[in-house]
Amino acid sequence: CASETVDVAIIGAGPSGSIAASLLHAQGKKVLVLEKQHFPRFSIGESLLPCCMQVITEANMLEAVNQAGFQFKNGAAFRYQDKYTTFDFTDKFTPGPGTTFQVERKNFDKLLADEASKQGVDIRYGHSVNAVDLSAKPQLEISNDQGQIQTINAKFILDASGFGRVLPHLLELEKPSTLPTRSAVFNHVYDNISDPNFDRNKILISVHPENQDIWYWLIPFSDGRCSVGVVGEPHQLAVVENGIEGDLNRLLKIMIDQEPGLKKLLANAEFINQSGLLKGYSANVKTLATDKFALLGNAGEFLDPVFSSGVTIAMQSASMAAKTLIKQLDGEIVDWQQDYAAPLMTGVDTFRTYVEAWYDCRFQDAIFFDDPDPKIKQMICSILAGYAWDQNNPFVSESKRRLDMVVELCRC
Ligand code: FAD
Repeated sequence: CASETVDVAIIGAGPSGSIAASLLHAQGKKVLVLEKQHFPRFSIGESLLPCCMQVITEANMLEAVNQAGFQFKNGAAFRYQDKYTTFDFTDKFTPGPGTTFQVERKNFDKLLADEASKQGVDIRYGHSVNAVDLSAKPQLEISNDQGQIQTINAKFILDASGFGRVLPHLLELEKPSTLPTRSAVFNHVYDNISDPNFDRNKILISVHPENQDIWYWLIPFSDGRCSVGVVGEPHQLAVVENGIEGDLNRLLKIMIDQEPGLKKLLANAEFINQSGLLKGYSANVKTLATDKFALLGNAGEFLDPVFSSGVTIAMQSASMAAKTLIKQLDGEIVDWQQDYAAPLMTGVDTFRTYVEAWYDCRFQDAIFFDDPDPKIKQMICSILAGYAWDQNNPFVSESKRRLDMVVELCRC
């Protein structure tokens, strides 16, 4: 049972892990990333928001991402019954990038991890974190694919384990999400979309015509395929009722056929693989950080996929945690609640306002309103583009009050 000592041990090599590792390594910190799987590996979450391009730039990975051949993305389109509306992310209130990409995550995550490795970060695949001891200096117990066990001593641990939620489980930090349990059924299909008006540069979010709680994503890739998925509460997806959980392709097709616009677009789609199912992914924690560890991305709170905010939050958390941690490692006194958790949560809470208002339909009313004020639309567009931390935007700093005002205007 060998032991090893590093400055920072990072659990997981998804976007939050690779970005945090790169930023810390660039400041001369000794970082070790432990990744349970071997890359490339599947991950859900394929539509990025422009805001995350800033963090990708910070980590010196922009050129590699730009050259990877991912599908260009410049906005989001929404459809409900006969209403169709678009947000152009370049026409927004907050300064910063207005375009990004739609990515197959197995390629995107591998690219970020490979870039971090090229920069000199030590990433060990097939290494799983099984136990943690924080009674003195942080210690991790890890095992590799061959079953060999090792102890890692670190000055600090970053948990970037995504839905693995390693530290929340081991340290009993889990707290139930306030959002209802929802499920998603999804697949990658050869879409064969012939409609010349279909905009491959935007994610399309379609709302179920009879039940506005149910929505679909359609995320075009650059190779003629799309990621398509449907989200709803388990009983709404007929997973339980019809007992067809075993035939997820059939379930997904039934759900697609219930939305006429999507049914038409995907009339010639080829389902090559089995569809996937994710249940109850919303999660929360009692604490995001102490002076010994911090939770990044999905290992902390995960809200809901409707605004594609997951990777952006993951990257923002990596950037914010890395800045705080560099100060601590350099001997400064930091307050993890004040310097990391609270600022991170300002953005997460902005998204929360809009997610809640999506499901109670108030934000849907605002999105599908026929005659939006262009200035207000730009401010809302900023949030949809991921700039949920911009306190200069009144729809961020007073998100609830401003959104209520807009909804009232749309409804009267
Ligand atoms: P991950 O990318 O999940 O990486 C975590 C890594 O940790 C994994 O590689 C895993 O193998 C590793 N790991 C786990 N346990 C251990 C262990 N014990 N030891 C070592 N390693 C371990 N986000 C978007 O931005 N856009 C979208 O369009 C979008 N759509 C979504 C749709 C759905 C239905 C859902 C549920 C989520 C969606 N998301 C989306 C959210 C997105 O998937 C996540 O927010 C994002 O992947 C989080 O990144 P991460 O770095 O925190 O973790």
